[in-house]
Amino acid sequence: MLITEKSYFKYRKKILNLEDVPLPEIAYQVGTPFYVYSATAIKSNYEKFILALGELNYSISYAVKANSNIAILKLLGSLGAGMDIVSSGEYLRAKAAGIPGNKIVFSGVGKTKDEMNLAIEGGIKQFNVESESELRVLNSVAVAQNKTVTISIRINPDIDAQTHEKISTGKADNKFGIPYEDAEKIFQKASQLSNLKVSGIAVHIGSQLTDLEPYRQTFLKLAELVHVLKSRGHDVKSLDLGGGIGIAYSDNKKVIDLLEYGKLVKSVLGHLNCKFEFEPGRLIVGNAGLLVCSVLYLKYLKNKKFIVVDSGMNDLSRPSMYGAYHEIIPIKEENNTSRIKVDVVGPICETGDTFARDRSFPIVEEKDLVAFKSCGAYGSVMASEYNSRPLIPEVFVKGTNFSIIRPRPSIMSVIQRDIVPDWLD
Ligand SMILES: *Cc1c(COP(=O)(O)O)cnc(C)c1O
Repeated sequence: MLITEKSYFKYRKKILNLEDVPLPEIAYQVGTPFYVYSATAIKSNYEKFILALGELNYSISYAVKANSNIAILKLLGSLGAGMDIVSSGEYLRAKAAGIPGNKIVFSGVGKTKDEMNLAIEGGIKQFNVESESELRVLNSVAVAQNKTVTISIRINPDIDAQTHEKISTGKADNKFGIPYEDAEKIFQKASQLSNLKVSGIAVHIGSQLTDLEPYRQTFLKLAELVHVLKSRGHDVKSLDLGGGIGIAYSDNKKVIDLLEYGKLVKSVLGHLNCKFEFEPGRLIVGNAGLLVCSVLYLKYLKNKKFIVVDSGMNDLSRPSMYGAYHEIIPIKEENNTSRIKVDVVGPICETGDTFARDRSFPIVEEKDLVAFKSCGAYGSVMASEYNSRPLIPEVFVKGTNFSIIRPRPSIMSVIQRDIVPDWLD
């Protein structure tokens, strides 16, 4: 099943529009490169997920790390979403977007005491705890604040999510969660700590999953664990099933059918009388965003043709980091269908700064605009200032409206953050 792209990105009068805004209009106003997101696509992705969950008793906590611009958090909050966060920065972003603390879930393998303090003080729905040490630290923080804190225990089910190794999180040798075999022991320990209230179990086996099978295996293990825990007198009220549902990065790619996902949850876990938590990130925003850049140079050598664009691996790191594929399309609709083989590369001084190798690509000219598709998730949030390139702007589109939701900083403002110590001369 293909999500959203077809309807929200279309050529009108031979120019690519996002919703009803011609992309050159945005480029003219903000310059290139920039990220741009469709509010309608995000809303539609969210609603499709809701539809798939049907009658289950659940709440959704959008995984902020996928795209943390507060305009997007605000939109999702208005649709009823809570937030799944992994740092105090993300906590404060969620708060800044008006999300109440009781709709925020704190995940992550390395929460600091300061982060725990901040979240407990500001209000938090639950912490997903990933180790015995974290359990003790969290309890001590809760004791000091004289508060009771709700937690879930994140279990590592030792399931291969069949995704890229860097975003696989549910194998026994990944750093995440508590080993499945230790679950009962940890539940026992947690129940003895004065200021923690154990609500249930959390899992998150990885990102960009395109097959239901790893989920099925995980859910089966979860169901078994719930039975064991209940038989030992532990109450399991909630099951946090994490995120991870993948998107189609190219048109012919098979992805998970959301209705099948919903059915699977219901059939394997539905009878357990638990409240469910889902933490989708990529699924909600991934296909709703583009990275738009300009062609700087056509560098056609004897044996190789390069298209040098003005965005680099610092703006979009997925290709260099994960070998990820992004479709790249010209913003001017091509008149002829001829294709050439090119490498699409950025300006960064590393060979890793390559977006596409030997890609069959339409004929473009210098100064043309091109768009990288499916950049709404893990694009802007993973950007860096490598090569002293300031973070690129983000733009939000809805219907005929577009607004800058994060401006391009001046290079001077970036440089001025550095301090030369006065003992240097
Ligand atoms: C990253 C993450 C998610 C979201 O993953 P997606 O693949 O973007 O859906 C959800 N939960 C946890 C705990 C995560 O770390």
